[in-house]
Amino acid sequence: MNRRCAGSEERPALLGGRPVRPDGPPLWPGTNAAVEEALRRAAAAGLWGRYHSEQSEALSAELAEFFQVPHVLLCASGTLAVEAALRACGVGAGDEVLLAAYDYEGNFLSVHAVGAVPVLVDVTALSWQLDAELLAAAASPRVKAVICSHLHGGIVDMPAVLELARQRGWYVIEDAAQAIGGQLQGRRLGSWGDIGVVSFGGSKLVAAGRGGALLCHEARLAQRLRLWLRRGPQEWAALSELQAAVVRPQLEQLPARTAQRAARAARLEAALAPFGALRRLAPLETPQTQPAFYKLGWDYDAAAFGLSRAHFLAALQAEGIAIAPGFRALHLHRSPSRYRAATPLRHATAAHHRCVLLHHPVLSGSEEDVLQIAQAVAKIHRYRQELAALPLPAPALSQD
Ligand SMILES: *Cc1c(COP(=O)(O)O)cnc(C)c1O
Repeated sequence: MNRRCAGSEERPALLGGRPVRPDGPPLWPGTNAAVEEALRRAAAAGLWGRYHSEQSEALSAELAEFFQVPHVLLCASGTLAVEAALRACGVGAGDEVLLAAYDYEGNFLSVHAVGAVPVLVDVTALSWQLDAELLAAAASPRVKAVICSHLHGGIVDMPAVLELARQRGWYVIEDAAQAIGGQLQGRRLGSWGDIGVVSFGGSKLVAAGRGGALLCHEARLAQRLRLWLRRGPQEWAALSELQAAVVRPQLEQLPARTAQRAARAARLEAALAPFGALRRLAPLETPQTQPAFYKLGWDYDAAAFGLSRAHFLAALQAEGIAIAPGFRALHLHRSPSRYRAATPLRHATAAHHRCVLLHHPVLSGSEEDVLQIAQAVAKIHRYRQELAALPLPAPALSQD
């Protein structure tokens, strides 16, 4: 077959054509020789039966160095880490916690888990990250803490959040579960808050199936975290030695991989620019700032592309591309008795309807891999009228 013509004549997979990725999206985590070697050595040393020994200690020290924070506590998940952080900050019944109305649902539920009330704040128009300028309007004497999540390759304006939080006496909990490896003004994301949270969940950039860590500046907060994560001498939600063993080599690889993903994201952005319908979430334009891409988030303009978001995503998924809608905004389809909304949540509502997320593994592949995505988008654009006529169920929203 003539390769040059094949692409242009191909129909979208959803209309019976050949998918651009017949084998589907790349697996994650991929094969990783350093991880395999770490597991082999851990097995040889009999680490699977141990509660606490050199792997956890070495990982804690390496994370402290990586994030430039004095205190690191390992734990069973990012979700648990957020709850631990809220408790260490003394958040409890009757207190309020500020967070973006477009955020990971688990954070909203963690606020409820400690008996507090989530106060939803709108996101910025162009980056869909927590809008630091709206925090003052959402203040009340009950507010104890702010949760800032860096989402979808975006970065929250941490200096602005911290400045206000310091004035008001609020704790800042920084959720870097999606942003490990990124930095803002030369400081690692996760190291800005009073307590930072990272996740080693199976889909995350540094994966151990499950797991998380708390990054902490103050000895007093670290001690409260330590106490909550123990019942007497027992750590009841620890990271295992085997999990610590597989995280260590990935942490070493992280800076190079973060740079590679950013380069692939930039290449993809350029390749998609001609369609005029996909806008990358706006970056913070400050020096020494580098996003991390757990998901690569876009504002999808259905009218400009000429195809609904549901159809666009279904068609790309049929091409073998791991793309999905973003989160459900926290104020939609939920009883208003479960939160307080201090400001209009216009941009969070827009994010709910317009966000599309590319899952990160394809960014660790070759340049050809990301160009295939642009090729698939081109096919879908060409056949958009035929695709729009297909009846489709609503796509499932992203869960992580
Ligand atoms: C995945 C994720 C978490 C939770 O981490 P787990 O380890 O899966 O519990 C928290 N916040 C954000 C933004 C996430 O993406």
